Amino acid sequence: MEQRFDGARDVRRAEERLQRRLPEPLEDLAWISFNYLWSWTPGGEDLFNLIDAHRFELAGHNPVRFLLNLPERDLLRAATDREILDLLDRVASRMRAELDRPTSRVLSSGPVAFMCAEFAIHSSLPVYSGGLGVLAGDYLKEASDQGLDTVGVGLLYRRGYLHQRMDVSGWQHEFWEVMNTGQVPLVRVRGAHNQPIVVSVPVGEDDLLAQVWRVNVGRTALYLLDAELRENTALERWTTARLYEGSHEIRLAQYGLLGIGGVRALDAMGISPALYHMNEGHPALAALEVASRTAKELGGVRPDLAQLVSEGRDRFVFTTHTPVPAGNETYYADTFFSVLGRSVEQMGFSREEVAALARVNSSDAGEPLGLSPLAIKVSRSTNAVSERHGSVAREMWQPLFPGRSVDQVPITHVTNGVHLPTWMATPMRQLLSQFCGPDWERRSNDPTTWSHLDAISDLDLWAVRNQLRRHLIEMIRSKVSVDRLARGENVELASAGQRLFDPDVVTVGFARRLATYKRLDLLFHDPERLARIVREGPGLQLLISGKAHPLDEQGKAVAKSLFGVIRDYGLSDRVVFLEDYDLRIAPALVSGCDVWLNLPRPPLEASGTSGMKAAMNGVLNLSVLDGWWAEGFNSQNGWGISGTVESDPGAQDRRDADLLYRILEEEVKPLFSNRDLSGVPSAWLARVRDSLRTLSPTYSTTRMLADYNTEIYRTR
Ligand SMILES: *Cc1c(COP(=O)(O)O)cnc(C)c1O
Repeated sequence: MEQRFDGARDVRRAEERLQRRLPEPLEDLAWISFNYLWSWTPGGEDLFNLIDAHRFELAGHNPVRFLLNLPERDLLRAATDREILDLLDRVASRMRAELDRPTSRVLSSGPVAFMCAEFAIHSSLPVYSGGLGVLAGDYLKEASDQGLDTVGVGLLYRRGYLHQRMDVSGWQHEFWEVMNTGQVPLVRVRGAHNQPIVVSVPVGEDDLLAQVWRVNVGRTALYLLDAELRENTALERWTTARLYEGSHEIRLAQYGLLGIGGVRALDAMGISPALYHMNEGHPALAALEVASRTAKELGGVRPDLAQLVSEGRDRFVFTTHTPVPAGNETYYADTFFSVLGRSVEQMGFSREEVAALARVNSSDAGEPLGLSPLAIKVSRSTNAVSERHGSVAREMWQPLFPGRSVDQVPITHVTNGVHLPTWMATPMRQLLSQFCGPDWERRSNDPTTWSHLDAISDLDLWAVRNQLRRHLIEMIRSKVSVDRLARGENVELASAGQRLFDPDVVTVGFARRLATYKRLDLLFHDPERLARIVREGPGLQLLISGKAHPLDEQGKAVAKSLFGVIRDYGLSDRVVFLEDYDLRIAPALVSGCDVWLNLPRPPLEASGTSGMKAAMNGVLNLSVLDGWWAEGFNSQNGWGISGTVESDPGAQDRRDADLLYRILEEEVKPLFSNRDLSGVPSAWLARVRDSLRTLSPTYSTTRMLADYNTEIYRTR
């Protein structure tokens, strides 16, 4: 058997190094810290908080950094604290039991390699920007829970994604933080003679080198390629500095490294995937590298690329996430080959044959190149991420299948899901655990699991909803005060932040990318009406969060107008913008609001997943019938705004804003404030129950991964 240098041994060494710092009773903390399984194991987060919640917060909830920086006297104190040791014992045995369960293969010949440009595993590993990364992170966690032999392949961005700082006027500024890899639960993978594994990919005139890091995500491993090596020039090192750079050259270098370098890294580690799952088109060049290996194995006269690719199609599947042509970047052939021309030559292909594969119309030499058409052509299966997105994608990519009608375009869909143990807040999980039986999370895709909801009383369900809302309000009070100080507001306004919001008032959340198609501005289409909704009667409070791409001036302008409305209408105590939306604040937002808004211009939302997180916490969705909500909404389990596509966007905005306001005025506010004798809004809770029962079994990664297994992976 070939030797595997898969980094498992390197992780053990890192654990041992950390362990030496710890008093003997705390030794288990070392291996726990090097496996993100702690973050979705009950008690995991509590364990670190119990040791020192404030320092854990200061360490960015990163257990390795936390333990490395904890003063010795605190370690010694923790080592004699019965409560801490008991919890440590429970968490360690839960995690051990989980890690000891055997894994199985979906395909007998090897693991599935899940390749993606970003992974959102945890806030302490900032190599993600948003929804695509969350999906990839949730996928790996679910693969671990289900014991499927899977590895993740991505890039280690040393500066991650942007942090957002608003100025007083509401204009977004960006900054980036540099990761200290010595204090993150990442381990450099070493090969023969203990030398770090390094792969090389020709980029431009030079060879770009990359080392490989391993992250333990439960029973799965995530491998991240990193160009921060002495041998690379400063410019080359920048390849893995930041996510989604504006420059096409940098992006192409990233995608070359991810696709070609990713296959080379797996090979160097002795891992031979049975299947490569390309999550979005970015890793599509992997197929060329695999084809080139096949050609070398065959020897003799090389078959042409088209034939190699068609023979290799069995090993690739592709998930597309973009419902607009503009989202599928294209590159001029000159740019493409100035970056990746030498790579193509090294793999033994001609530029013409690669260009033909990366064009919708292979014979149109003027057409720019795209990774999505390439990914579709090299894969045996392409799927969209919701039912509606499936039909949008079939129409969009019909030109790739001349002679077929839109309905016959071979693009299916697997609707996205979210990882329940990550996204369902602890109080809700504990409540359900009392009624749904042991290990109910593993049966969460079975509707009968959720029939036990009937046994939960309104009072208990309402108590959990109140607890989650209060927790959110505590979080925003401290965060908003600091946000206001940081942007230079006066101390008066900053300290008003500490009294923000009323824990008994219906709380509405909107958190997503500040791209214009997300239509945050619908909310303040008629600012006067919004102000009345917020102020009159029982009132309503509104939380908004999201980042604009640094180059998206229009997206930034929307946030600025919002700040203007808040100021002009004196709404700063009831309408609040939370800076720097990311994995740190998302869990409290999606669980603590009462209503979750999504207002995309249809059909531009491929799926959306934050509403799924909200639903499993008993939050009601109020959303345009696009993406997942077009299939999830049943008229009882939330609210829907028409998803029809209209030719006049202005008229559509007026109509949709009016309906949004009416739902808030006539349904949300009255239903929430109409209480029975025990103070419970029973009609509201009836909807919450309906939402939990109808949505939770379906919109989880448990169902999603089962679908991938049966419909995409095991189809031959
Ligand atoms: C879930 C999540 C997203 C994706 O949510 P959408 O509904 O697709 O906008 C983006 N960012 C963060 C931080 C998330 O947690």
